[in-house]
Amino acid sequence: MSNDLIVAKFGGSSMADATCMRRSAKVSFDQKANLVVVSATYGTTNQLIQISNLASKGQWDECAELIEKIKTKHNDIASDLNCYESVREQLETLYNELETLSKGVSLLRDLTPKAFDGLQSLGERMSSLLFTYAMKEVHSENKDVRLLDVRKVLRTDDRFNRASAQIDEIKELCDLHLGEISNDVIFVTQGFIGSTKDGETTTLGRGGSDYSAALLAEGLRARTLQIWTDVAGIATTDPRIVKEAKLLGEITFQEAAELATFGAKILHPTTLTPALRANVQVFVGSSYEPDAPGTWIKKSTSEAPLIRAMAKREAQSLITLSTPKMLHTHGFLFEIFKIFNNHRVSVDSITTSEISVSLTVDDSTLLNKTLFEELSALGEVKIEGELSLVSLIGNNINHTPGLAARIFNALGDINVRMICLGASKHNFCFLVANDKASECIEKLHKEFIA
Ligand code: ASP
Ligand code: MG
Repeated sequence: MSNDLIVAKFGGSSMADATCMRRSAKVSFDQKANLVVVSATYGTTNQLIQISNLASKGQWDECAELIEKIKTKHNDIASDLNCYESVREQLETLYNELETLSKGVSLLRDLTPKAFDGLQSLGERMSSLLFTYAMKEVHSENKDVRLLDVRKVLRTDDRFNRASAQIDEIKELCDLHLGEISNDVIFVTQGFIGSTKDGETTTLGRGGSDYSAALLAEGLRARTLQIWTDVAGIATTDPRIVKEAKLLGEITFQEAAELATFGAKILHPTTLTPALRANVQVFVGSSYEPDAPGTWIKKSTSEAPLIRAMAKREAQSLITLSTPKMLHTHGFLFEIFKIFNNHRVSVDSITTSEISVSLTVDDSTLLNKTLFEELSALGEVKIEGELSLVSLIGNNINHTPGLAARIFNALGDINVRMICLGASKHNFCFLVANDKASECIEKLHKEFIA
């Protein structure tokens, strides 16, 4: 296998209809992509989740209505692409699977995690089938475009709905099933879904197609991963907050990972782990404007600005646990984090004093009653909700004298609830009320970037 391989991933907005599919197919050929990974057509995963939930409550009529909508959407694309009868037959098979599975769930009124993944997998299985046809239609000469069922290669554990990828197996399976990949043999496959060693369908969690594409790029030892979406790259901040936001030509893996984790919606945060591990350079661009420069994510960039970008992450809660028992003892933080670990809750930032610990989690964590009971057994627990983490991403942040002063001067009298500085060269973040976060970004963008 050549290591100059290119993996291209197209999101739902690049698969929305026949026009989008043709455009994305053209981008794939122009870019000489060897493996193309696709998301479900726009909105379909949401509809499949709705169907699953309705079925679990036995609301079959509403389910059937939504199934009809999904069928019409995909049949329309098939007609617009003038698909062969054989493609339509394969689509029918997938529709039957959708009907049978949701009927089963609705009869039992029980949505098992396994059935949920089976249902969700249909979005990508339908879109990839249509997209393979679009590729063949756009360019047939000398190109052999093959549809690969990604479940043959994307091996995961059996944690349905949020499966963990098993990269060593994925590498072996890529060698086995993608050995013929070349400039003339192009594979199209599904993002988001995988399979256990027993062949049961799993999914990687919402938005997981970026991660799939990165895993496959690693599995193939590809040179480049292209993420094609509906915005022309990564910007200094969300242009809906600051209209002067500028597109970045390049950004490092570390900075992009911080940015994705701390709120920028453009890349799924897990994408960069395989890319960094395998040193695959990542490009982010718009399939609607393929000639725009886009953003390159690399190991190192020509410039390393102090502040490259900023983002906010809403719906955060601050949990503060205080107890005099913490005074001069050890193992207390261990006890606390053991609880979060047992509940698989991710803690995003933390500060401590001698007798208290404050940490932030997603608001949704507040629904977990047992977690709070267990924390309360350790000490007094206080919760503040409706907060946002604002973060500045750049370089040398923890070694730049005067930076904190500049930040807080710019913020003026906005009340800051918690600050995290020092842990990373690439991130400075603080917590404010949700309704102040955009104002913070505007002020900081003016101070550091505009
Ligand atoms: N189709 C899945 C979702 O909407 C995965 C993806 O698009 O990345 O979450
Ligand atoms: Mg996505």
